[in-house]
Amino acid sequence: MAAILLASVIPAAVTAPPLQAPPLREPLQELRIGAAAAVDAPHAAPLVVIDPGHSGKYIRSRDKKTGLRDIDYPNYPEIYETFDIGSCVAKALKADGYRVILTKKHALDSVSLAARARIANRNKAALAISIHNDHGVGFKFQAAYDQRGLKGPNGRYHAMYRGSGSHRTVFHHPTVAKQSQRYAGIIAAERSKAQRRKVSVAQNSFAGRPPLEPGNLAMVQLLATVPWVYNEMGARTGRSIYQATTITSEARYARGLIAGVEAAIPFASRAERMSDASLRHCLTNRVEPKPGQYTRPRAYLPLGY
Ligand SMILES: [Zn+2]
Repeated sequence: MAAILLASVIPAAVTAPPLQAPPLREPLQELRIGAAAAVDAPHAAPLVVIDPGHSGKYIRSRDKKTGLRDIDYPNYPEIYETFDIGSCVAKALKADGYRVILTKKHALDSVSLAARARIANRNKAALAISIHNDHGVGFKFQAAYDQRGLKGPNGRYHAMYRGSGSHRTVFHHPTVAKQSQRYAGIIAAERSKAQRRKVSVAQNSFAGRPPLEPGNLAMVQLLATVPWVYNEMGARTGRSIYQATTITSEARYARGLIAGVEAAIPFASRAERMSDASLRHCLTNRVEPKPGQYTRPRAYLPLGY
């Protein structure tokens, strides 16, 4: 797909460059994580972009192409937990031969939502996944969101969009939307098995959440030209929304994501190399700035530390 059909209302004076710019090598190198990055997987390996939720600083910008408000914020302890999960999912996928790029190098990096989408677009990711959890709801809530959405009462798909008025921007990549729907189904099924909870393919809602733009699709998915599955895990563990989740729930979420990605875009052997013990070890030790040395406040350390 050569062009992105976003808002039909982009002012004529704005000459938006094509979203799929030539692949940039520098971000790819910069954003690869870990020592294993020095050894490149064969080029034929599918590229997976992993997007751990939220930014270290409050971001309130405007996407130049669409005029949409691009807003993100630190969310504790989610920002630490999802970064650890993303890092360990990346490590496991690399061990299985995939190429992987994280949208952040460090847990508290600030990267706008448009910039996250660009990383996946420029590198032509086979699949991008966002990893979030929600401490406002319990473990019964488990969701995977795709770019096609759910059929309405009339049995038809409706517009996937963000914004209102002149900024209303609709996702117009039908092939990508279908792929993303298929991948979300596969990831939801694998997550359901690993997490022992029903994970539903659902449709997001940003209605009544100002200053977030209204709509039904995460900004990263809207601005993407590649299939993108946005994952949420209910993570409320106690009375407080600041109570960190358990390593066990992190490990199950991670295992479900690894299995889901590998089932969605199969490559080489389906046997996952990283054992459950290694995954737990990764989650308890792969915390910045180096293994075993934690930068997060104690209160945000997962249960079991
Ligand atoms: Zn989140």
